[in-house]
Amino acid sequence: MRFTSLGSGSAGNALVVESGRTRVMMDCGFATADTKARLERVGLRAHDLAGVVVTHEHDDHLGGVARFAMKYAVNIFVTRGTACWLPPDFPAVLVHIVDSHTPFAIGDIAVEPFPVPHDAREPVQYVFGDGAVRLGVVTDLGCSTHHVEEKLSGCHALVVECNHDLDMLMSGPYPIGLKKRIAGRFGHLDNATAAALVKNLDRSRLRHLVCAHLSEQNNKPELAVDAMAGALGCERSWIGVATQSDGFAWRDV
Ligand SMILES: [Zn+2]
Ligand SMILES: [Zn+2]
Repeated sequence: MRFTSLGSGSAGNALVVESGRTRVMMDCGFATADTKARLERVGLRAHDLAGVVVTHEHDDHLGGVARFAMKYAVNIFVTRGTACWLPPDFPAVLVHIVDSHTPFAIGDIAVEPFPVPHDAREPVQYVFGDGAVRLGVVTDLGCSTHHVEEKLSGCHALVVECNHDLDMLMSGPYPIGLKKRIAGRFGHLDNATAAALVKNLDRSRLRHLVCAHLSEQNNKPELAVDAMAGALGCERSWIGVATQSDGFAWRDV
């Protein structure tokens, strides 16, 4: 199994997981032409995708899904709560409803959704598996839960939200209401909380750790990496960071 990010942050997210002949995209917050160009950059075409799994309705995740899926007739997988936000003319035949506690398969890839605290209607995040290795992804959550940690424990690869540095957020230019929303229990994880979450997990099989969904306004890659390396007692160079413009290159799990 291998995975790559097409870009990560508040301006758009998309990640691709590949196992055997199956490729699944998680979220699509980019316009169709941009998504196509980003896929080409990692050696893929739209028709290579077996489906798009969606986490929640926020524009940086769902914003590009409908047009892309309609243009290339790609199946999408969404919770009922997220499906409410699809455009009315979206073809029902392409929609597969996800139960947030029930694993399912797309081709060779096992997909385990799990609910997360975030200010959306029915948000989930996903663990992807191929029977041998597991990749856990959490890009939008306000706080950790026992269930989240249970799902992410034992994974071989993790992509974890490090949205902001709490001091940068609080001393920055955002209005106080927005600061409270972002830092709240249904907002986004700050670096220290993300690091504490990963520290709590069973990391005995962990080979890849990538910080994702960094705020360009309220974070710096080195702060996210410092927080993770400090909490985990590992080399800074071992920790990856997903960028808004390029995501990150393919990683073999
Ligand atoms: Zn969100
Ligand atoms: Zn987001």
